[in-house]
Amino acid sequence: MATFREHGSRPSLTERVEELLTTGGPLPIVAAGDPVLRRGTEPFDGQLAPALLARFVEALRVTMRAAPGVGLAAPQVGVELRIAVIEDPAPVPEAVRLARGRVPQPFRALVNPSYEPVGPARAAFFEGCLSVPGWQAVVARHTEVRLVAEDERGRAVDEVFSGWPARIVQHETDHLDGMLYLDRAELRSLSSGEAVAERWAQPTPEAAAEALGFELPGR
Ligand code: ZN
Repeated sequence: MATFREHGSRPSLTERVEELLTTGGPLPIVAAGDPVLRRGTEPFDGQLAPALLARFVEALRVTMRAAPGVGLAAPQVGVELRIAVIEDPAPVPEAVRLARGRVPQPFRALVNPSYEPVGPARAAFFEGCLSVPGWQAVVARHTEVRLVAEDERGRAVDEVFSGWPARIVQHETDHLDGMLYLDRAELRSLSSGEAVAERWAQPTPEAAAEALGFELPGR
């Protein structure tokens, strides 16, 4: 419905977001192949009024939880703004928590995030993306990153993330730059969700690297 649209003009960003939020439920997630995932995003600079921004962030949270996922970036719901949300209750076995550093990450809205590596260490694990449903691949990422961002109220964030939360932060920030995790993945590791569940559920991807023939960092 184009109820907010003026004659002959494209709907503004505010109008498009208002329209997206009318259902009140989880938003449709855009799949790979849609150019919106590749165009990059505008820095957030008040394009949405505070109340609308709060509603948009809430809709991202609801959509992420319903998927379920541990992060969601605005372009994944078709909005080209530099905004993402993350949250990971990390319901994983102890061996996985230790190997992957998958510790619980409370809900956070990331506005205008950017990251840089802290130190040279990299870690490689299977990851997936709500915009590439049904598949996972191994991605080597910085073990620790410094994230500079704002929260949804405009307060400055400058924080170091490590382990799995660092991976989530990198994955979501990359979305805002028009990147998908597959751009950084070991493509020979590409595995269906079923294959990961049946064969590659080990805490680390060493057996997958051996069997599928791809490199892990540091060897
Ligand atoms: Zn993703």
